[in-house]
Amino acid sequence: MTKPNKGTGKTRHPATAILHSGRNPADQHGFVNAPAYRGSTVLFPTLDELDAYERQPFRYGRYGTPTTVALETALTELEGGERTLLTPSGYQAVTTAILAFVGAGDHLLMVDSVYQPTRKFCDTLLARLGVTTTYYDPLIGGGIAELIQPNTRVVFLESPGSLTFEMQDVPAIVKAARARDVTVLMDNTWAGPLYFRPLSHGVDVSITACTKYVVGHADAMLGAITANARTAGAVEAARTVLGSCPGSEETYLGLRGLRTLAVRLDRHQRSALEVARWLGTRPEVERILHPALPSDPGHALWKALYTGASGLFSVILKPAPRKALAAMLDGLELFGMGYSWGGYESLIVPFNPKRYRTATAWTAEGPALRLHIGLDDVGDLIADLEAGFARLNAAR
Ligand SMILES: *Cc1c(COP(=O)(O)O)cnc(C)c1O
Repeated sequence: MTKPNKGTGKTRHPATAILHSGRNPADQHGFVNAPAYRGSTVLFPTLDELDAYERQPFRYGRYGTPTTVALETALTELEGGERTLLTPSGYQAVTTAILAFVGAGDHLLMVDSVYQPTRKFCDTLLARLGVTTTYYDPLIGGGIAELIQPNTRVVFLESPGSLTFEMQDVPAIVKAARARDVTVLMDNTWAGPLYFRPLSHGVDVSITACTKYVVGHADAMLGAITANARTAGAVEAARTVLGSCPGSEETYLGLRGLRTLAVRLDRHQRSALEVARWLGTRPEVERILHPALPSDPGHALWKALYTGASGLFSVILKPAPRKALAAMLDGLELFGMGYSWGGYESLIVPFNPKRYRTATAWTAEGPALRLHIGLDDVGDLIADLEAGFARLNAAR
């Protein structure tokens, strides 16, 4: 066992908690920040202590260091959970959390709008291990009850959906799953624990790709699984047998990023809304997929459940030839084309959900683009996109 890292029990505003949680200057000669502990071996001074190693706070690098515990403690408090376990990537947080609850012969319900590598995991490794997956409509709500089989162990949510931003009715799905003793896992990377706390809505396990906003600078890979009291033991056992442990540098960068998360997210949120509203006035645009816009079909759910929106949303353009789209994207100066998001920089990528959806049909005809609005001046970003539309129109 690594050191238990239950939240302190104190209630303080999350924006305050992220500054103070998991940090004790008295333990580090008065310095504000804990160092990045690097290490494999932990020494035990006596045979008695070696024999009692399971009761030591630290026993071997793979099970955690004071740096890992610091970030896990802070995230546990923020999520209102029992225990947080870090993983070397967000994707591994997803796979570790799923493997904690399923075995041969079991069934999993997976949202059709899920992050694509999660879908691939279900269709390949999980299938090979004898776990079957049924994909469900992200808008299913309480209708999920009809898909629960006697061997269903897990319902997996990701809200809003990766790329397409459908909002899921989390309370309705939780209610149906609870009634049948099915564990509920949720990938909450988009909002993160500052803007939505899954566990306080009855979700058992909250998953965050810390690579995105927690790290916040596109310079490290990191994931986190926060479990409630009912599921913490299973998640910890799975992470231990799978042997996943994040690097000390990455963990340190996660802690470093967490301290400024509230102020960065606030800026991402405001700029993204401004860009989204501007895009809504453009003749080239068919539809904006952003749940914090009143015109979005998921807006009522977002408003009822979430306290904020991040800087990631999508836009569907009116049909345009590929060469016009290339002229628009290739000439952008501030938006980079690349995967991942959550850093200070602005990004744009085209996508096509038609290629992988199975439970629901994607009917939009025009090209779809996902934008991450970074910390740039928003006027500069709009000017960059405006010049992009001029190139798109000229190349038609
Ligand atoms: C990026 C992402 C992940 C995976 O995180 P990595 O750290 O890149 O492995 C999982 N879920 C969502 C929604 C993501 O956007």
